[in-house]
Amino acid sequence: MRLLIVEDERKMADYLRQGLTENGFVVDVARDGIDGQHLALTGEYDLIILDVMLPGLDGWQVMQALRQAGKVMPVLFLTARDKVEDRVKGLELGADDYLIKPFAFSELLARVRSLLRRGKNREPEMLRIADLEVDVFKRRASRGGDRIDLTAKEFALLMLFMRRQGEVLSRSQIASQVWDINFDSDSNVVDVAVRRLRSKIDDNYAPKLIHTLRGMGYVLEARDSNA
Ligand code: CA
Repeated sequence: MRLLIVEDERKMADYLRQGLTENGFVVDVARDGIDGQHLALTGEYDLIILDVMLPGLDGWQVMQALRQAGKVMPVLFLTARDKVEDRVKGLELGADDYLIKPFAFSELLARVRSLLRRGKNREPEMLRIADLEVDVFKRRASRGGDRIDLTAKEFALLMLFMRRQGEVLSRSQIASQVWDINFDSDSNVVDVAVRRLRSKIDDNYAPKLIHTLRGMGYVLEARDSNA
């Protein structure tokens, strides 16, 4: 099991690294948000321990970048703050758990183990619908065995659709999940992105997977080709 600790306080980082290594984990440490984000996006980690207050990028920004990139490994936040709104913010962004500093190492270890157990059953590495396959960790999509090249945004959009197959997603839901902003209702950014994605995954294949529901949004599902 490989863990990433993103923590700028050297003593804390060393303490965690030592304790986790003694408990059989392989541990990498990043000392600021930029390094942390880079490692988290490029390495294969089973879990990330992420401090909130970091130089460079804060823990929330790192978290957001990870989830937008489709990285689903569990994240345990470390925070010195004890404010309800901070916890809510982190959980909304996709954090899995919190520890308020100072904490006992035994408590951290228990949370890490519990998150790793949950993480295993949480999401398969491959998401599938019809003959479209998405490898979550390698960030690759293929249809009928053909590799499909996607931009980062297109990949994020496809991940959103794949995770919520059969569910109608409104433009504003898609905008807030994939772009992290709310476009005004006139904006066609979402439509343009969906059209591009659709041309890549649907144009040359059957059955069609992305469907428009007029006035409602979009849905990903495999329908009979005559429908
Ligand atoms: Ca800090």
